Amino acid sequence: MTVLVTGGAGYIGSHMVWELLDAGESVVVLDRLSTGFEWAVAPEAKLVVGDVADKELVGGIIRDSHVDAIIHFAGSIVVPESVADPLAYYENNTSKTRTLIETAVREGVSHFIFSSTAAVYGGAGLEPVREDARLAPESPYGLSKLMSEWMLRDAGLAHDIRYTALRYFNVAGADPRGRTGQSTPGATHLIKVACETALGKRPFMQVFGTDYPTPDGTCMRDYIHVSDLAAAHRLALQRLRAGGQSLVANCGYSHGYSVLEVIESVRRAFGRDFEVKMGDRRPGDAAAVVANSDLARAELGWTPQRDDLDQIVADALAWERILTSKNSARG
Ligand code: UDP
Repeated sequence: MTVLVTGGAGYIGSHMVWELLDAGESVVVLDRLSTGFEWAVAPEAKLVVGDVADKELVGGIIRDSHVDAIIHFAGSIVVPESVADPLAYYENNTSKTRTLIETAVREGVSHFIFSSTAAVYGGAGLEPVREDARLAPESPYGLSKLMSEWMLRDAGLAHDIRYTALRYFNVAGADPRGRTGQSTPGATHLIKVACETALGKRPFMQVFGTDYPTPDGTCMRDYIHVSDLAAAHRLALQRLRAGGQSLVANCGYSHGYSVLEVIESVRRAFGRDFEVKMGDRRPGDAAAVVANSDLARAELGWTPQRDDLDQIVADALAWERILTSKNSARG
């Protein structure tokens, strides 16, 4: 039995590959390498460079490698980009996922794990959000993922395929063993941006908005360590293989930190100050987005091991340093 990981050369996908290999699984990665990196794929995994919508290619991988499960990370993830170019997002995230599900059904792959997002909820409040909350994506990105969830639901009713869609909150950190981390240039995510600023890769960073209805006026998010997220996928795989029914579950820690708290944590980890400017709100940001993760804990038996902001930040900073030396070695 082999697990096919799409987007396995990317940030979360590359962690997933290590998680699976550490658990003794056989892994094939399918990645276009448009934003991922060949070096990010663990050497024990087989890398196929190609597109998830290439039916012949994917069908061949499934047959040749005896794939029994697909974990589908490949996709576009930048919210403002999805607003500027929605059709590209519907193509890359929704259409291609449709084709991949079709191939899975045709080839008899009956386990499918899908990377969804908290963006399906739209602006959540300060209260942790449950899976049965109102679904109101505020961006083409969120909608492109929600449509994929719906396609999986309907395919699951019509065909022999069971799925788990995990709705990620704010994924951050890096492999505690320093094997992989967030490496895509032009990052916009808070912890990565703060680490880059601390290390002098940016002259300063900005806090986007200080007048939100939160305790310190800055936005609150539920930051989850990427290794805990990968572990949730592994448990989801086990559960599906054991006959578990389809499931949609949040992946977060159920508590939030403000932008200022995150920056303080980066200052602590770095040991020195760096320049932070207070700026205007970033369009489209909700005041707070925090998961209720009871379902993942109950259904997957998921017990997060790294629910500690300082640890997430320390791992992210350590990876940022590794990345600096990798990039300078490459010239
Ligand atoms: N943020 C910020 N400065 C930055 C990047 C992000 O103040 O340079 C804030 C952003 O406004 C949001 C939070 O940090 O409130 C998390 O943003 P991120 O882009 O990491 O994730 P999102 O929640 O948008 O998916």
